[in-house]
Order: sequence, then C-alpha cells, then structure tokens
Amino acid sequence: MKRRDFVKGAIAATAAVGFSGCTREMIEGKKSVHINRRKKVKLKLATSWPANFPIMGTGVDRFAEKVKAMSGGSLEIKIYPKNILVPALAVFDATSSGQIDAFHSGPYYWKGKNPAFALFSGLPLGMVASELSCWMNYGGGYDLWRELYGKYNLHPFVGGNTGVQMGGWFRKPIDSLEDLKGLKMRIPGLGGEVMARLGVNPILLPAGEIYTSLERGTIDATEWVGPALDIRMGFYKVARYYYTGWHEPGSILELTFNKARFDALSDEHKAVIEYAAEAMTTEMYHEFMDENAKALEKLKELNVQIRDFPPEIVEAAKKALQEVVKEQSAESADFERVFASMETYYRRIKPWTDISEAKYLSIR
Ligand code: CA
Repeated sequence: MKRRDFVKGAIAATAAVGFSGCTREMIEGKKSVHINRRKKVKLKLATSWPANFPIMGTGVDRFAEKVKAMSGGSLEIKIYPKNILVPALAVFDATSSGQIDAFHSGPYYWKGKNPAFALFSGLPLGMVASELSCWMNYGGGYDLWRELYGKYNLHPFVGGNTGVQMGGWFRKPIDSLEDLKGLKMRIPGLGGEVMARLGVNPILLPAGEIYTSLERGTIDATEWVGPALDIRMGFYKVARYYYTGWHEPGSILELTFNKARFDALSDEHKAVIEYAAEAMTTEMYHEFMDENAKALEKLKELNVQIRDFPPEIVEAAKKALQEVVKEQSAESADFERVFASMETYYRRIKPWTDISEAKYLSIR
C-alpha cells in the first residue's frame, strides 16, 4: 500500500470509528458492561408515614426513583411505609442498629434521646425554610447534626421542609391571653411547651384520634401542618377558627442513613444520594406551597375564619420561648450548643432577610 493510500484508509477508518453506529454501540456496550460488572447496591428505607402519604411520603418515593435513574440502576432504595418493616417511631433505632439502612422522618420525634435533636427540625418563632437551609450548609448546622447523630451510627440529610405551618384550629376565637387559659390543645414539641407556659394544656394524640377528640370537645384546639394536609383531616368541620403560624416556621424532615453503611458506599453513590436528597427537599417545599395555596382557596370557600393571634399572645410566646430555651440549655449541653449555633446564624441572616424578602413581600 502506498503511503497516501494508507493515510486515506486511516482517515476513513477514523471517520468510521468516530461516526458509525457500530462504534457508538461499542462504546455504549463498554459502558453497560462496566455498570453491570459493578455490584448492584440495594438499601431498605422505612418512613414514619403511611403508604402514599401526600407530599412527605410520595416525595420519598420519587427520591428513590431518582436515585435509581441517576445511578444508572446501580443503586436501589426500597421504600417501606410505616409499620411494614418497623413501627413508625422505631425507624431511628432500627437504622442505628443496622436492622434497616435508612429512614425518612422528623428530628423532633427523637428529642427523648437528646433534647438538641428537636432543634434540627427548626425553632418556634425562628428561621424559615430557606434560612434553616443556609444554617445547615453555611452556618455549621450539618456539622453539629452529623456529630450528634454520629454517636448513634447515623448520617442525616435534610429530606424536605413543610414551610410555615399554620398555628392550628380552634373551636372558639382567641382574642386575648385569657382565652388560652385552660384550653386543651394537641400541639407537640417546643411549641407545646411554650403554649403550656401561656396556660394551655398541651395534649399528645395519635393522628387517627385528633378529629374525633376535636369533634367531641375532648380537646379545644389542634395544630397539624398546613391547609394541604389539614383539609384532608376535616378539622374545618368541627373548628371554624384557623390561626396563622408561629410554632413551626419551616419544619425540616430528615433522610437519615446508617452511618457505617453510608460510609461504605462508593463516592458516586454518595453523591447521587446527596443531590437526590437536595432535589427532594426543594420539591417537597414547593409541593407544599402549591398544595397549600389550592387548599387555602377551598377552605375560604368553606367559610373557615382565618385569623392572626393577637400581638399580646405573640409577645407572651416570645418570652415563654426564652424561658423554655434557658431551661433546656441548663439541662442539656448539646441543646445549649445547637441553640447557640442557630441563634448566631439567625442574628447573621435576619438583617438580610429583613431588607430583601421580608421588605419586598411587605410592599408587593
Ligand atoms: Ca405540626
């Protein structure tokens, strides 16, 4: 073969390699062999929600689909609704011990293990969803959360946010602090402890018993989440007064893994989980906003009275919260540390929120 012919042939061959379908198949074939050769990883994740629970539950199902797609099928997370593998509130211990690999729930459920855990859900009258996200990522929130959960062999991610929750449903209007005295209200967490200092008797009730208790007058009021989920509970049928929020200004949901098992994952799978969790958080927050807006319209059509708590109640709640924080800080060094971190960040972010979003929202 003459040299020129050889060069021509080589160019033709290069072109064939570069552009023919055959070559594309070869390349893709190589890729798929690479993936197939790798061991498929399957993880079990239990939630604290019933099957098909709107937004919180369906969001986790979408997270698992995303993980599978993003990992090219090499990482599968099977989702188990509450009480299938373990009871709703046993998911923390089951993941810690390695019985299951991960869970989706809310950090305030575990305050009995460490009072500081309640703070990773957010603080009454504190930061909103976007500010909490900033605290987690840029203000040391994640470091503290992972350090404290690490003692339980757990590695948490933010796995959703409800946005501002409503203040709750009341059978009678609340016009003064006096009207709160002696009221029985279903309200858990730090919000409940603040309410107790305002004379309310906070009651803990399983989800399935709240409506009947409110209907029968066993309780006078209840909080739940916001219009989207509250309307499904039917509270508007038995309590006409729906108050705006203060006690859960942006509740964080968690996606938490058994730490040893998470650490053993490939860097690729870790990244897939991290960014699928980020996507889930954003999606859930936006889905809550959208569904709340639609449900609010319906509640207005149903003549629900939407009200704000009078300023004297808000002021009293702020004072009571300081007392609660002081007491809990005296009892738990972890609570004191996490609260101090949140408070420092709140003082940093608030001036900006005030002159940006808050300012704009007040004039539009
Ligand atoms: Ca709530």
